Order: sequence, then structure tokens, then C-alpha cells
Amino acid sequence: MGAQRPKGALLGVDLGGTQVKAALFSHLGEREAVARAASPSRESAEAILGAVLAAARELGEPPAGVGVGVAGVLDLREGRVVQSPNLPPLSGFPLRERLRSALGGVPVQMMNDANAAALGEFHAGAGQACRSMVLLTLGTGIGGGVVLDGKIWEGAAGAAGEVGHMCVQADGPECSCGGRGCLEACVSGWALVRDAKAAARDPASAIASLPELTAERLAGLALAGDAGARALWENAGRMLGIGVANLMNLLNPECIVLAGGLARAGDLLLAPARRAWEHQAFERARASCQVRLASLGEWAGVRGAIQPFLP
Ligand SMILES: [Zn+2]
Repeated sequence: MGAQRPKGALLGVDLGGTQVKAALFSHLGEREAVARAASPSRESAEAILGAVLAAARELGEPPAGVGVGVAGVLDLREGRVVQSPNLPPLSGFPLRERLRSALGGVPVQMMNDANAAALGEFHAGAGQACRSMVLLTLGTGIGGGVVLDGKIWEGAAGAAGEVGHMCVQADGPECSCGGRGCLEACVSGWALVRDAKAAARDPASAIASLPELTAERLAGLALAGDAGARALWENAGRMLGIGVANLMNLLNPECIVLAGGLARAGDLLLAPARRAWEHQAFERARASCQVRLASLGEWAGVRGAIQPFLP
């Protein structure tokens, strides 16, 4: 990275398939204002660029540096989006150069959105004061990133950090990636809904009486004592714990940060997870690793995106 260190305000952008989030920061990284808009993710690359520029204008002060986290595979040398399932029109788009010229030639830094969120939590959230951290974002899918000795671990081809696709159950359920038994196929929002649908085929199950199958509804039912709903969380938690243990044993990070909507299920998910990682991880690895909840919420990505400009 090694970006210049502008003295003026910094603009952080989190460019996702659902929303464009932006925030203005001081040159020291203090967040001063935020803006958000629906992402025109299916329209055109120009429309997506326009939404980012509109957010920048809404925040007022022209930035002295721009960091943007993009949902997709990026060519960081060329400043291009290679491919983005969530923002299809951006494939091949020279986003860095187009942003730079539209914003009067300011330096622009791009990174993958999951890595941006990991850097945000690492520098300004739950991972502060750690040297190594793994972020697991437990949402509809599972994203995340690996920070080792203060740096995002990019891997040989920039493909590292796919924590949602480590296998936790050989011959387990099919995953969105084409594999089987990935963490995402066992613990994510969509995996939970899939398992709830299967349970709801038994009309005697209380799950069948829910008005909608969402993580919140399933958590409410489990907290009310329903055995079927509790079993869903128990299974998801156990799989999460195996994934956490794998990360502890492989990387021995100082902390593992859990973010995303499912993390809000609290002990429904975390108690069985803890039992699994205490059973599965080496004592030295788990004793030196704290598992924490994320603290920046949905603003982790914008904060991480400006990190290259900060000391
Ligand atoms: Zn997968």
C-alpha cells in the first residue's frame, strides 16, 4: 500500500451490492459524517460510479484521499474490478482511475470490502491492540479477513481470507461456492433458513407456525424454549466453534472477531460454539486467543478503506 498521507479529510466508501455507504473522516481517522444510498448494482458501471460521487458530494468537504472497499475480486495493480457477483456491471471497470479523475485527481486506494471491514475492526474496533486478528462476518453469507502482524494476509493471488469457505463438515450441505460443508453452508443466514424450512415440513414443529423464517424469528422461538429451534442454533454454533478452532490451531491469532446479524443471537450460537472450540482447539492456541463481538457494526468497512492513508 504505502499511500501518501494527505492532511485534509478522508473519504471512506463501502461499495456493496445492496448499499453504498460513505463516511468522511479527519486526517487522523475520526469519523465526522456518514451518508448512504441504495446501490444501483444492476444498472451500469457509470450509475454505480455516480452513486459514489453523489455520496461524496453529500458529505460536503472535498476529500484529500479516498479509500474504497468493493464487493468483488480486484486487480489492485491496475485499479480495476476483475469480477463482482454483487455488482456485475463493474467487471473490468477501471474504478480507481475513474474515481481519481472525477474527484479532481485525489489519491484513491481500493481494497476488497471484506478486507476493509477486517482492517476497520483491527485498527478502530474490537481488534485494537492486537497484532493478529481474524474477522468472521456472519450474515446472509459469511465473509471475513485475516490480519497477521498488522497486515491483511492477501495470499499468493489475493485469494486468501475466505473464512466462510473453510470446510467444517466433510460431505456436509452444499455451499454457494460449489463445495460442500463450508462454514457458510452450515452457519450463515441462508443455511439457517434452509434448515428451518426442512424442520417446518413437520407440521407439529413450532417452526412451521412462524410467519416468516428469519434468524430473528428462530432466535425468538429458541429463547421461548422450543426444542426444534434450539437444535438449529446448537448445530450452527457447533459448526461455528469448529471453524473457530481451525483458525486458532492454524493461525494462533490474538483475537477472533465475530460480526454480522447472526452474532447478535448471543449465547444461542456462542455457547455451543465455545463448547466446540474448547474441545477442538489446542490449549495454548485458545488460551492466547480472545473471541470478541465486533464493535464498529456496519461502519467497519468505510473505516478500514481509509487505513492506507493513516499512520
Ligand atoms: Zn463454500
